[in-house]
Parts: sequence; structure tokens; C-alpha cells
Amino acid sequence: MSEVLGEVLLDRETIRNRVRQLGRLISSDMEGLEPCMVPVLDGGMVFAADLIREISLPATMIPLKASSYGSGSESSGVVDLPWELPKELSSKDIILVDDILDTGLTLETLRRKLFDVGAQSVRTCVLLRKKKSIHLPADHIGFDIPDVFVVGYGLDLGGRYRNLPDISFLRETA
Ligand code: 5GP
Ligand code: MG
Repeated sequence: MSEVLGEVLLDRETIRNRVRQLGRLISSDMEGLEPCMVPVLDGGMVFAADLIREISLPATMIPLKASSYGSGSESSGVVDLPWELPKELSSKDIILVDDILDTGLTLETLRRKLFDVGAQSVRTCVLLRKKKSIHLPADHIGFDIPDVFVVGYGLDLGGRYRNLPDISFLRETA
């Protein structure tokens, strides 16, 4: 079985408008603070790069690498964090930014670690949340989407498709 790109779920214009709104929401939610944006690499970097430019507060960025999918399209159930948390994260007001909330394991693991190193506050922002994760909280959510595997706008399959400006389904072919 292999996959090809399917229909577009969210086009670039729709994404851009929502990212702009999220930037405004975060700016008013964090007014008076200096948000430290922590994008979850690799998937969250495209979203975070656009989002930080929509935030009208003095913001900084410290990306962290995490992966739970390996090279496939099923969560492995284990979050791989190949680093020590940078000390400068302590006492920061953090906004964790990821592409998608699926099992929630990645964000929950990171949130706990950030509090462990003394973060002042930790907010979460995801561009997408799957239907099966509707019960999982995040402070800011771009779009609720169906339980399907999507690619584009930073989201990959085995490293491919991240550069696509739209977010699309994948279609399986025999
Ligand atoms: P969680 O820890 O919430 O299960 O998984 C979150 C991570 O899994 C995301 O950061 C993302 O990298 C990956 N992921 C989850 N669902 C999808 C999906 O539909 N498409 C892609 N490309 N990655 C996904
Ligand atoms: Mg990810």
C-alpha cells in the first residue's frame, strides 16, 4: 500500500486568516507578558514561523525537537525528546506551539518538563485538533478536523510534504 496526495482540507488562505486571528487572541491573552514561543520541531515550525509574526508583543522563540510518530502514520505511543531542556526556559511565560493534537502525548510530556525546569506559565496552541481528541484541552486551537492523517504546512509523512502551502488528506493506493 502506498499513498498519494488527496483533496485539500484547508487551503492557504483559510490557514492564513486563522493564524492571524490566533495571533490576535494570543496577543490579548498574554498582554503585559513577553511570550516565549516554543515550537515543537519538526512539524510545528511552519505554523510557528507564521504565528510569531502575528503576535504584537515582544516575543522570543526557543524551538524544541520532539517526535512520537517515527517515519510512519501511527503514533508510536512514546515521545522521543533528544535533548536536555535549555536552562533559559525557566521563569518564562511559554506558549507551546505544535501542528496537531492527536493523542496529546507530545504536548503533555513537554508541558510537564517545562514546569519541571521552572517555567512561569505554559500555554498551548495547536493549529489542528483531531475529532478523537476533542476532549483534550489546548489554550488556542486553529481548526477541529476529522480523524484522518493530513499533510502539508509543516505536517509530513516520512519527511515529505512539509512544504505544501495547503493542508491535504492522503489517499491510499494499492
Ligand atoms: P500526539 O503526541 O498528540 O499523538 O502527536 C502529535 C504529533 O504527531 C504531532 O506533532 C505530529 O507531528 C504527529 N501527527 C499526529 N497526527 C498527524 C497527522 O494527521 N499528520 C501528520 N503529518 N502528523 C501527525
Ligand atoms: Mg510533531
